[in-house]
Amino acid sequence: MVINDLIPSDIKYFVFCLNNNRFLIFVFEFLEDNRVIALLIIYNIIFAMLLWAFFQTMTTDPGQVPVFWGFHLGDNENKRRRYCLMCNVFKPERCHHCSACNRCVLNMDHHCPWINNCVGFWNRKYFLLLLVYVLIIVYTTVVFMAYDFYQVVVWGFNYKYLPAKNNAEFRNKIFILAAFLMDVIVCVLMTAFLRFHIKLASENKTTIENLDKQGKPFKSIYDIGLDNNWKQIFGMNPWLYAFPIFCGSGKPMGDGIYW
Ligand SMILES: [Zn+2]
Ligand SMILES: [Zn+2]
Repeated sequence: MVINDLIPSDIKYFVFCLNNNRFLIFVFEFLEDNRVIALLIIYNIIFAMLLWAFFQTMTTDPGQVPVFWGFHLGDNENKRRRYCLMCNVFKPERCHHCSACNRCVLNMDHHCPWINNCVGFWNRKYFLLLLVYVLIIVYTTVVFMAYDFYQVVVWGFNYKYLPAKNNAEFRNKIFILAAFLMDVIVCVLMTAFLRFHIKLASENKTTIENLDKQGKPFKSIYDIGLDNNWKQIFGMNPWLYAFPIFCGSGKPMGDGIYW
């Protein structure tokens, strides 16, 4: 399977829209100094980080139950309680079967259709980073499109007659209007979504555990303090927190099997 097949077309279109030329056009038209170049470089680095996090979230195995795990005679009785009849494995704590992926996933958070993968023990960091980078990009886009949007609104109020459908200026304005509003909607939704996930991560909960409690407040039995909760997701090396990669030194605390 080629990578291209893994990416739903709406996501490809979305990514295309995010990185459309409006930003470049704006900065080159209105500003011409070193700050613009610096801004452009920072923007594109963040956009590259977004794509990297996106790729890593999609392609990283969220966590597989080791072969024959729980079958050994010496294993504790309590970890053999849960058995998956589909995968024929004992499920460690916090492991769930995903019907979309048709497999068991360690520390399953949720199945995400946007990345065509489950979010679990080994890619939860990448998923959170993806949300952060998407938010930075969409907020930047809102800021740099705000003036265009304002002009369209002013134009709309001053225009007395509806122009012909094929009027290029009219089409361009409609495009700015739609893109800006879509961006604002994405900003609002994603902000709430990221806040929710940061709260879950800080309290060492998963979306599934939260659903089990029907969203009511509860204290997770896995909560080992804010610092360690984050290390279980973001790994042991703070220098790698911003990058969607673990390397040797930055592996998440624990193994996703024993809690
Ligand atoms: Zn299973
Ligand atoms: Zn899944």
